[in-house]
Amino acid sequence: MSYARVIVNISHENLDKFYEYEIPKEWEETIQVGSQVLIPFGAGNKLIKGFVLGITEGSQFDPAKIKPLKEVLQDGMVLESQFIQLAAWIRNRYGATMNDALRAVLPVKRKMKEKEVRYLHLQASMERMERFRAECERKKYKARLLLAETLMDCPEIEIGDAIKNYGVSREAIKAFEQMGILSISSERTYRNPVETRVCEERKVTLTESQENIVEDIWKEYEDGVRNTYLIHGVTGSGKTEVYMELMERVVREGKQVIFLIPEIALTVPMVERFYQRFGDSISVLHSKLSDGERSDQYERAKNGEISIMIGPRSALFTPFSNIGLIILDEEHEPSFVNENQPKYHAREVAIYRAEMCGASVVLGSATPSLESYYAAKQGIYKLYELKERVGDSQLPNVTVIDLREELKARNRSIFSRYLSQRINECLEQKKQILLFINRRGYAGFISCRACGHVLKCPHCDVSLTEHNNGKLMCHYCGYEVVKPSVCPSCGSKYIGSFGVGTQKVEEMARKEFPNARILRMDGDTVSKKGEYEKILNQFNAGFADILIGTQMVAKGHDFENVSLVGAMAADLSLHMNDFRSAERTFQLLSQAGGRAGRRKKQGEFIIQTYDPKHYSIVMTKDADYQGFYEKEMAYRGLLNYPPLGHVLAIMVSSKYQERPDRTARLLALAVKDKFPQIQLIGPVNATIYKLNDRYRKVMYLKSADLEQLIEGKNFLEEYIHFSEQFKYVTVSFDMDPMNGY
Ligand code: ADP
Ligand code: ZN
Ligand code: ZN
Repeated sequence: MSYARVIVNISHENLDKFYEYEIPKEWEETIQVGSQVLIPFGAGNKLIKGFVLGITEGSQFDPAKIKPLKEVLQDGMVLESQFIQLAAWIRNRYGATMNDALRAVLPVKRKMKEKEVRYLHLQASMERMERFRAECERKKYKARLLLAETLMDCPEIEIGDAIKNYGVSREAIKAFEQMGILSISSERTYRNPVETRVCEERKVTLTESQENIVEDIWKEYEDGVRNTYLIHGVTGSGKTEVYMELMERVVREGKQVIFLIPEIALTVPMVERFYQRFGDSISVLHSKLSDGERSDQYERAKNGEISIMIGPRSALFTPFSNIGLIILDEEHEPSFVNENQPKYHAREVAIYRAEMCGASVVLGSATPSLESYYAAKQGIYKLYELKERVGDSQLPNVTVIDLREELKARNRSIFSRYLSQRINECLEQKKQILLFINRRGYAGFISCRACGHVLKCPHCDVSLTEHNNGKLMCHYCGYEVVKPSVCPSCGSKYIGSFGVGTQKVEEMARKEFPNARILRMDGDTVSKKGEYEKILNQFNAGFADILIGTQMVAKGHDFENVSLVGAMAADLSLHMNDFRSAERTFQLLSQAGGRAGRRKKQGEFIIQTYDPKHYSIVMTKDADYQGFYEKEMAYRGLLNYPPLGHVLAIMVSSKYQERPDRTARLLALAVKDKFPQIQLIGPVNATIYKLNDRYRKVMYLKSADLEQLIEGKNFLEEYIHFSEQFKYVTVSFDMDPMNGY
């Protein structure tokens, strides 16, 4: 007798183990490792879904107590064994249930109905058709006449085409089929989300520095060396051309490529560019596709019908069988980290998957993550630099405006005098302007508008967050103070939460520049499908003078006519309760500045800030990545933050207010006892203490040794699993988190 080891499809820590089910004879042929099955579960034998993780002959349990499984689901995607291994690795590394990990590596959950195209084929001779046509005409059979004429024109025609473009009726088709005048055939087709189009092949001659990178990587590739490469190249330095050349060579060898981009929104321009080079061998995989489209891309990849998959992080799990190369463009972007459990980092998973299947990894960025740059400096990755833009294109002039001076000069507007003047000049010269607000920092830190002083935790060097009760709090250690009524640094009473949103900026801009045509792009305006492209196209076509937006506008676009970029309040991302806030600010500002003057013309980038001396702003101005890296690494090292140390965030939440605190303390005690070397911070209330009616406590484990931290996590997972205390709480893990809690 054969048995299946099944993991059930319920998201709950306590059910994170295998169950054995007997495989009935009728399913023996169909079932395989990775199949989705329906099983009777628990005392009530409720039917639930599960994944088969293994099949064994015989069982260690009493066969009399093992239930037979009910059904092997035919429309369920079969998980290949490579993905089960990948899920296990993800689960161990980031902490999650196996079930969550399995779902993460299966971006397409359901096989959708195959799509068919049906064709009409003329069966009768032309003479017969001629007679028939005349008869229809005489009898005034309009529908039949039309179909007869259509078939005489095109003896083979797709049904949809005949109906839509020729106005042929379904009844006529049916009648003709019965009369033997035509036959119908059908063929499976794939839904293709990539719009096919005619295009001239566009291929540039690589510059010497681009060529050097390609040849170096390629030489290793041909020698059978598989490696991780980091291309650090300023915006517009031609990284994408380097990727494409490598992709072409890898594909020519019969291998496949996965190309990851940080955001769905960026797929359209990227796909357009790739299509020109690679044509129909590319496809995309992302959540905005219909279920059918997604399922078909998955199938096409599996069947080897495409060689390049483009998409955000989940495209990493494309079922290619012979991957040669995985590329992450803008590898520093936080969106490469999964938002749900398991909070995997796509970069790390890509490197692991590449190892599994013998592929190389290429990472590219103008502002590499500290993790990657550090790894490159350590010799773990191989580093290449592209220091200059291609052609005559130049990096913009950067001006930093001190907003405190504006207040002193009685300018209460959100536009500094200089920015305002430059906007007016650009409007006169018919040049476009991009205004950029980093709303991510909206969470509200407390600062002084007179001197720019930000209230920070004395123990953690992160900004304090205001709570409803009038207290300020540190979310890393729990430090708390009453909110002062005047600035502790200069005594001014202009102290409070800081924040401007895109809407506010739009409103002010309309007042200040009444003749300008203004577009706004943020989460609100682009929630509808296609809205994003529409706004960008409008702007690119010159239907607006000013585009206002969040970081969305700062990424990856190649605007033709933008000569001025303004960062409205660079501080917004600087003072988060998050150890990565300086890095994030540097990245965002560098990226935004990169949008100015991309074609030949020198652009200008104006940064408005209350903190002009902050190194992330100074180094942005000087375009000094190296300087930023060194300064930031010194800070990370001092506090044991990544990449020098590792931090595991543990979130405990519950519907019942008293539970998370108690549970978190228990966990803290358990860790302290078992792993005295691990540094423990917290537990404290999360920044958003109550979310969706759940109360949330957070604590952090810190260690220089990643393996030790994983061990600590595994220990806690087990502890939670076997204790009764955790009934009404959810514990989730975030290794080296991208955001503060
Ligand atoms: P990045 O990806 O680093 O931002 P891109 O690859 O998009 O840079 O290149 C920026 C611009 O320069 C693009 O318009 C691209 O077509 C052009 N370009 C890149 N490399 C070359 C080259 N070797 N010859 C001519 N144009 C190039
Ligand atoms: Zn603190
Ligand atoms: Zn002050």
